[in-house]
Amino acid sequence: MFENKKPLVIGDYNYPEPDLDEVVVKVGATGICRSDWHYWNGDWEWMGVVPTFPHILGHEMAGIVEQVGPDVRKFKKGDRVVVPFALGCGKCRPCSEGHQNVCENMIPFGFTCMGSFAEYASIPRADTNLALLPDSISFSTAASLGCRYMTSYHGVVDQIRLHPGESFAVFGAGGVGMAAIQIASSLGALPIAVDIDDNKLRMAEDMGAIATLNSSGMDVYEIADRINELTDGGADCTLDALGIASTCVPAILSLRQRGRHLQIGLTTGDQAGMTTLPTDVIVTKEIQFTGSFGMPPHRYRELLGLITSGKLHPEKLVTRKVALEEASSVLESMTSYNTMGTVVIDRF
Ligand SMILES: [Zn+2]
Ligand SMILES: [Zn+2]
Repeated sequence: MFENKKPLVIGDYNYPEPDLDEVVVKVGATGICRSDWHYWNGDWEWMGVVPTFPHILGHEMAGIVEQVGPDVRKFKKGDRVVVPFALGCGKCRPCSEGHQNVCENMIPFGFTCMGSFAEYASIPRADTNLALLPDSISFSTAASLGCRYMTSYHGVVDQIRLHPGESFAVFGAGGVGMAAIQIASSLGALPIAVDIDDNKLRMAEDMGAIATLNSSGMDVYEIADRINELTDGGADCTLDALGIASTCVPAILSLRQRGRHLQIGLTTGDQAGMTTLPTDVIVTKEIQFTGSFGMPPHRYRELLGLITSGKLHPEKLVTRKVALEEASSVLESMTSYNTMGTVVIDRF
């Protein structure tokens, strides 16, 4: 990437020898994500995350360790690994409390360092962040955990603690939303998909949605009324997977008293980090508003175990496997929200 919003260019880049705590990984597969699209658009300047050009995108990676730095103890050449995008330092207060995903000194892999739309990628802080990948899980399945699937898993299981039998309205049936629906369904909860695209709603049903709502042309109160009818008085939990007011506000209005809202979608350039919220409803219904950002690395063990035991199927979200050369056109199609599920660059 040489310029925001301009087609990606494939060229040669020589990685330096791994630093003390780094590993170099041969990329097996890497997801193409809306976060790549945000960065490519120059959306996150208000968060201080600005690319220096040339930059290599890609943060949803799995692959084989090729080379290890002198201080790396837990990994060796030939290990199959999956890489979380939020690389914690292992030393700050959140890290020492087990919340490496919100590290005070985080390195967002693929954003402030070179990413994985490449043959090889260099990963700092390897011992603190990487997880071994069981042989039974393919690189493309591991890449599809991405940021999206694991953020949904952490959000649904750890943050809002969705229970069996609870209703859960998911606003935005893209990668994050679709993952949340599948995870909620596997927990025995009752997910409802809300989107403006019938194709995505059909896929959401395949992932376990018990009902769907095409909200195109509806105002926020009409959407909330429909969710109220479908859940007999309001959803126990909601998710805004998009980060725009037209999904976040109706999600909150759709909650019952003491409902829990999960926010995963980040804002785009138009909002620049701010969204108007229905504050009075949050107060008078005692609603909880919770975020989810990535997943602490120690949670991979449970998540990967649920995949190997067949309880979770992230691979069902992979709608397309493409070559590295196609990454640019996939990003361009995201501008019109024209992609379904998860697209993965598969190198093996
Ligand atoms: Zn830290
Ligand atoms: Zn991502």
